[in-house]
Amino acid sequence: MNYEAVIGLEIHCELKTKTKIFCGCATGFGADQNTHVCPVCLGLPGVLPTINKRVVEFAIKAGLATNCEINKYSKFDRKNYYYPDLPKNWQTSQYDLPICEHGWVDIDTSEGKKRVRLTRIHMEEDAGKLVHSGTTIKDSISSDVDYNRTGVPLLEIVSEPDMHTAEEARVYMEKIKAIMEYIDVSNCRMEEGNLRADVNVSIRPEGSDQLGTRTEMKNINSFKSLEDAINYEIERQTEVLEDGGHVVQETRTFDPARGITLSMRSKENAHDYRYMPEPDLPPIITSDETIEKYRSELPELPDARRARYEKDYGLSDYDAGIITSTRAMAEYYDAVVATGADPKLAANWIMGDLSKNLNEEAIDIQKSPVDAKRLGDMILLIMKDTISGKIAKKVFKEMWTNPDAPEKIVKDKGLVQITDTSAIEPAVDAAIAANPKAVEEYKGGKKKALGALVGQVMKATKGKANPQMVNKMLVEKLK
Ligand code: ADP
Ligand code: ZN
Ligand code: MG
Repeated sequence: MNYEAVIGLEIHCELKTKTKIFCGCATGFGADQNTHVCPVCLGLPGVLPTINKRVVEFAIKAGLATNCEINKYSKFDRKNYYYPDLPKNWQTSQYDLPICEHGWVDIDTSEGKKRVRLTRIHMEEDAGKLVHSGTTIKDSISSDVDYNRTGVPLLEIVSEPDMHTAEEARVYMEKIKAIMEYIDVSNCRMEEGNLRADVNVSIRPEGSDQLGTRTEMKNINSFKSLEDAINYEIERQTEVLEDGGHVVQETRTFDPARGITLSMRSKENAHDYRYMPEPDLPPIITSDETIEKYRSELPELPDARRARYEKDYGLSDYDAGIITSTRAMAEYYDAVVATGADPKLAANWIMGDLSKNLNEEAIDIQKSPVDAKRLGDMILLIMKDTISGKIAKKVFKEMWTNPDAPEKIVKDKGLVQITDTSAIEPAVDAAIAANPKAVEEYKGGKKKALGALVGQVMKATKGKANPQMVNKMLVEKLK
């Protein structure tokens, strides 16, 4: 039998507020253990939480940016569970009246465009962090608990089970990440756990509209793990069913080193959490006015920016999609174009040499050794025929470690393109004289043979001759 996978994601997104959600403690990452704590986030008796207004603002903005309806009446609830990372023994979250519902985002996959619906976005507090003496809880003799993260605001963005492949899930999560970065509500640093996903996977016979039993992989914090965990889980569940067994509803953990998922615990149902309204916080009541104010503060979002690049700059849908995939790259691109650089050349250089170098050295585009202004200036040199596209690759490579202006590098290294025919002519004549076979072939109708001659001239001029001119001169002389 053929099976179809069904995937739904619960993405946790840490908000970049200065202070925690219910107290004034700082949220910064990497501080000494238990230095960002107070009686409220430690859950000591007799304290009262107060809501951080910024969190509500960010939640509403996230909802607007993902086409959600904003609930003007929303409330907090207690989700009860017992674990050392949660000193109150409940997590203050939202249950039946979340702040945002019924949204959607569009994604692009290798199979085309697709819409993924969002069930809801709600606000909640993060829990603390257990620091084990060993590598895992099982081989540890003790664990410390660090409450710095306790009470850091989170959005939980819950999708409908609308995805069917690991690729769709990855692209969806990339899209959510991009949107949260664009609207500037989260740093979205996955390696710091700012953005992590609980991934729900089930399979069902192809053509069925029933949902199969799902497993949930918690706290996936890289795109690679996301895809690997899903693919492994689809295979595992398929084998279970093919062997006549049934999938157990459970929470599993993904081990990135081994690329496998392992059973952790059987899955709680909602009633196990004994949800109850949070009596210490008032409901959140929002007006149309506030919602419209937040809407007006939203920046241009990835889809709109992409459409604009296609319309104004003639970029292909694919290229515009890549350039707008992160706000940082789109801003870099805008800055390159602002120098007067040709928009298509700019896109090619960013997606090509720049991205390649950044990826190789794992540098963020904001910290690129070649900033937007210098890349733009280099592209202007290509446009003015000062350098050829090929030489530009050399110039770019030099710019990576040399902070000089591209113009200076071109002069210092003697890379200025030769566009003077009298300077190119000797090399053209020499190439013709030295390659009688290619000349004969060309004259005999084999147009391709010209390439070898052009190559000879380029070699003789160390790549500096203008290739179009070389081409033209050769054709003239061989008439
Ligand atoms: P929780 O995991 O907290 O119990 P939900 O029941 O609301 O919460 O489901 C969480 C996520 O699991 C959602 O993203 C939803 O789309 C997805 N999901 C629910 N049922 C299935 C299923 N059978 N297969 C795959 N994903 C599912
Ligand atoms: Zn605190
Ligand atoms: Mg879940």
